[in-house]
Amino acid sequence: MKKTNRRFETEAIRTQIERSSFLEHSSPIYMTSSFVFEDAEDMRASFAEEKDRNIYSRYANPNGTEFIDKVCKMEGAEAGFAFASGMAAVFSTFAALLESGDHVLSARNIFGSTHSLFTQFFPKWQISHTYFKIDELEKVEDLITPRTKVIYAESPTNPGVDLVDLERLGTIADKHGLLLIVDNCFASPYLQQPIKFGAHLVIHSGTKLMDGQGRVLAGITVGRADLIDKIYRFARISGPSLSPFNAWLLSKSLETLAVRVDRHCSNALGVAQFLEDHPKVEWVKYPFLPSHPQYKLAKKQMKAGGCVVSFEIKGGVKAGRKFFDAIRLLSLSANLGDSRSIVTHPASTTHSKLSVKERLESGITDGMVRISVGLEHLEDITSDISQALDAIY
Ligand SMILES: *Cc1c(COP(=O)(O)O)cnc(C)c1O
Repeated sequence: MKKTNRRFETEAIRTQIERSSFLEHSSPIYMTSSFVFEDAEDMRASFAEEKDRNIYSRYANPNGTEFIDKVCKMEGAEAGFAFASGMAAVFSTFAALLESGDHVLSARNIFGSTHSLFTQFFPKWQISHTYFKIDELEKVEDLITPRTKVIYAESPTNPGVDLVDLERLGTIADKHGLLLIVDNCFASPYLQQPIKFGAHLVIHSGTKLMDGQGRVLAGITVGRADLIDKIYRFARISGPSLSPFNAWLLSKSLETLAVRVDRHCSNALGVAQFLEDHPKVEWVKYPFLPSHPQYKLAKKQMKAGGCVVSFEIKGGVKAGRKFFDAIRLLSLSANLGDSRSIVTHPASTTHSKLSVKERLESGITDGMVRISVGLEHLEDITSDISQALDAIY
């Protein structure tokens, strides 16, 4: 990747694949499964990887390349590979790097489907895991075994918006020669760049803030070039690559990431402040609220607090259900990072596959509500939440 001195917002807009002979301003969509060769020698040399060129869209496609180049610049990464979903990125990253017998040391508070990979599928290939508590990082080193290869974490966590001290994990990974892989989806590259804190690979679900408009599924892994090469070798054979159309949409979306995320964050802070003063709210958590237990770490690690606010309604599950039934403007949906504000009940939806014990250990109480604060006018968002809280008792 060629390094420039341009700033984040400029790279997000000006990183572009070569123009075609039409000299279009905005990149076209390359809807093609394969690419043609000039002659027999070109074909041979291309397959022998003596040339850096497109062969088949399962390996690479210009739209995918543009999207990957942008995210690499945003994250300060050497290379990347784009996937059809965030989970395809998570699975392929592990599948490419781990051997049978390897061990993963992961934060307990991780995305539900990643937890299911660790518990339901990796044991089939003798890949084991141990969870560490994110508020007990001093115990992480004791959990390292001779077969540990990866430390894995998300920050902020879903849905509790707790933070993990990434620099501390980076130091531990370095000391023990382990890979640190961070799912940075909740922050987006605009708010946090884990490579600065010692991460070797960064994973995103592009479905969330990167697309930001609830249209596509996508994923990406970026980081150290030698690791990405292994992931590329696995992915070009196993076939989870991102479609050119979705890659094109994401590239356009990234042009507005900074302005969108700024507004998501100011709206989310406004919602968090509104909830903090509300008599029917037991507690509210948002990384940039001074009452957040890790406010100092949030300020160090992130540029702003992100789009997700979590809170607990007084009155438990019953009050919670009434709240959801009374909501009018906000969507009851499973996504996040969308321009539309979304409310979810993690205990009965995204984290319903966890046992009650596992849920509580991940900080998910029965009455917890997660709001992904969108880009509507702040006062329209808070007035909907306000009328729904009024309606519960
Ligand atoms: C949504 C999400 C994923 C999975 O992404 P998909 O695009 O839905 O496959 C992984 N990690 C986190 C933190 C997520 O929020």
